[in-house]
Amino acid sequence: MSGDPNRVAGVCSGLPLGIQDLMWGTDNERVRNKSDRRILKSTARILCDMCPIQAECLAQSIIGREQHSRIGGIDVKARRLLRHRAEADGVDLDPSNPARTRNLTSWIRDHPELVREVREQSSTREGRRRRSEDQYAYRQRKTVESAQRPE
Ligand code: SF4
Repeated sequence: MSGDPNRVAGVCSGLPLGIQDLMWGTDNERVRNKSDRRILKSTARILCDMCPIQAECLAQSIIGREQHSRIGGIDVKARRLLRHRAEADGVDLDPSNPARTRNLTSWIRDHPELVREVREQSSTREGRRRRSEDQYAYRQRKTVESAQRPE
């Protein structure tokens, strides 16, 4: 986690790597007791919500399409949702845009409530229903955009 030079200012960087992997990474599955796993995950979430660089951390993991762990306090599904929300809100995340990480960081800073919302959406039944609606709308929008793009 904090092996990433961009996260050295993050709250997690003060913890030993083994602990970070248990709290944020796939090593969490090695913890036998289910409720212990939950405690580790929710502690990681609380620390991320208190972290001064959460927006930067999330933006980097979203732009880098990181496929593992609960970076920034939300899982990969929730990060995907956040990306869709940003794009729907007009944030240009096209790889050709050199300012995309900065733009996304500012957008996340301006919408802290959405981090909680996508987290909930990725973990509850109602959230899953809304997520599939969002994904459907996202796919529709992408299809329309690619149909409108000049050959
Ligand atoms: S937001 Fe979370 S994962 Fe990212 S640097 Fe901060 S504590 Fe670490």
